[in-house]
Amino acid sequence: MKAAIFEKPGLENLRVIDNAERPKISDHDILIKVKMAGINPIDSFVVSGALPKIDPLPHIPGAESSGIIEEVGSHVNNGNNNNFKKGDRVIVHNKVFDGTCDMCLNRLDMICRNGGLIGAITNGGFAEYIAVPERNVFKIPDDMGWDLAASLPVTSLTPYHALKEASLKINEFLVVFGASGNTGMVAVQLGKKIGAKVIGVSKDNWVKTDFGADYIISDYDKVVENVKDITQGKMADVVVNSLGIGTWDSSFASVGINGRWVAFGGLTGADVKLNVQALYSKQIKLIGSTGGTRKELQELIDIFVV
Ligand SMILES: [Zn+2]
Repeated sequence: MKAAIFEKPGLENLRVIDNAERPKISDHDILIKVKMAGINPIDSFVVSGALPKIDPLPHIPGAESSGIIEEVGSHVNNGNNNNFKKGDRVIVHNKVFDGTCDMCLNRLDMICRNGGLIGAITNGGFAEYIAVPERNVFKIPDDMGWDLAASLPVTSLTPYHALKEASLKINEFLVVFGASGNTGMVAVQLGKKIGAKVIGVSKDNWVKTDFGADYIISDYDKVVENVKDITQGKMADVVVNSLGIGTWDSSFASVGINGRWVAFGGLTGADVKLNVQALYSKQIKLIGSTGGTRKELQELIDIFVV
């Protein structure tokens, strides 16, 4: 089959070949013919060697994929109502998890103590076929486009889980840094759907016209004063900022009393300087977030089920 593959880390080593071995499935696996795969920072980390463990080598990256079921293992559909069959349109939840550790028992399978990422510790979806366990497969509606489908498991689930971790509520002010990035666009839309007042920080005004942000702040040097104006001095209830150290100061200063600051990445660097007094005196919560649960992925799919 055709696949993007590399034998040793380095973006220059990634190539597309026609004769990659088609994955074999075990009894509990499903073979999916990939229709579309998303590209995310995690894929760059995998290919460049920034992650400690990449397996197997040679390696096919691709953490976010969608496609059509080609084949199901002999034990698939045992004892559940999934009824997976050839031809079903599906997406792949990209977390490897054991299902038995204390995190998994608490339904936090994305931070399984013995887990990892499909596309990092297994081959991923930048190929004609991918084989994954049945429990990682989710059906999607017939009328959902492949571009949307392929953007649910990482691009959409990541900010959705982050907003839930930050307990975003109706009428609260949400500030999204990098609002025209992939996760930022979704954070803006989910923020609106939850009922928040959404302030996007981006040089792209289409985040407001196309994705429904209530306000756009286009000057990164004036974020704090603009947030102050918009919120009439109260500042933000929730700030999403995965841009890293370059925007740390302005993003933290944008959080109001009893506010929450949440990140699922640190694109420009992660070593920030924190004023602890500002943190405790305003009772601010700093929240780390990664991926999302399988239940949350199903919730995202169900947004499109009418
Ligand atoms: Zn676990």
